[in-house]
Amino acid sequence: MHDPRDTPAFPNPHSPGPPTTRLAPSPTGALHLGNARTFLVNWAVARKLAWRIVLRIEDIDGPRVKPGAIELTIDLLRWLGMDWDCGPFIQSHNLDPCRDAMRKLAGAALAYPCELTRSQIEAAASAPQEGSHDIAFPASLRPTLVPREFAPADEASSWRFATPPGVIEFDDHFARHQRHDLAASIGDFVVWTRQEQPSYQLAVVVDDARQGVTHVVRGDDLLNSAARQIALQRALTLPTPTYCHLPLVKGPDGRRLAKRHGDTRLDTYRARGIPAERVVGLVASWCGLGPRAPMSASEFRQRLDLDRIPRTAVTFTPEDEQWLLST
Ligand code: GLU
Repeated sequence: MHDPRDTPAFPNPHSPGPPTTRLAPSPTGALHLGNARTFLVNWAVARKLAWRIVLRIEDIDGPRVKPGAIELTIDLLRWLGMDWDCGPFIQSHNLDPCRDAMRKLAGAALAYPCELTRSQIEAAASAPQEGSHDIAFPASLRPTLVPREFAPADEASSWRFATPPGVIEFDDHFARHQRHDLAASIGDFVVWTRQEQPSYQLAVVVDDARQGVTHVVRGDDLLNSAARQIALQRALTLPTPTYCHLPLVKGPDGRRLAKRHGDTRLDTYRARGIPAERVVGLVASWCGLGPRAPMSASEFRQRLDLDRIPRTAVTFTPEDEQWLLST
């Protein structure tokens, strides 16, 4: 498998290069129909607009990666008909750039070690904001900010980013204008974990920049993360990509597609002999391309129009499922 330590560096994102996007699956859970829709849209838009596509496997994000999970994830993307120009790059293979970023943040008094446990933080925090499961890290728990040396070899502490005051605003290509008061809703957040790893937020920012990513297309469950990522980009003087957050696929009960809605894993469909064209055809119908009909990825690419994708969440209905399984 491709190891980024052996490859020439990506072009400097500050210098002009081709527009670049990434497919960034986490191999920690099997790809399901919701992932298929996000990745297919990302891929199709990129191929239509001649963006370069980087495949990045985000294997530091979440629980331990099972043996074979990375290969299966890549295989399923190919099965759907997708391709890419660079990678696969395995995120955990090179964490040095994240360590460099930590040195920079710590040295600029923008990050600090934090030994507090979740229950200590909860005890000091006010109730979560409406609609959020996260409690904001209370400002009163932040130590005095001073330049520090980043020393990751301390299992007792994670490192937190000192969230700057003020509202983060950005224009999302799909979700429109966004305003996030990070200090109020999130507060200082973890950038380096007790497990000696960068957090998802830090790793994404560092990798997007070093891989020259200019366009991020993903599910709108990550809209709230975009504000954190922009704050980190500013602190590290890295460019901010253009964001495009798509509404998620939900089950008939209005909740995000998950195990409770049955087995919607792509490898289960494949094992049952469902052709990839059916999955792509279902995704196409969710993207405003007319009634369900089997479709190849290349036809999907030709016909997709980002502006025709419904702006509301998509529902995976029992009729969708029946159609998918009726080969
Ligand atoms: N690895 C994340 C996922 O599969 C995507 C992260 C991102 O696009 O920033 O949900």
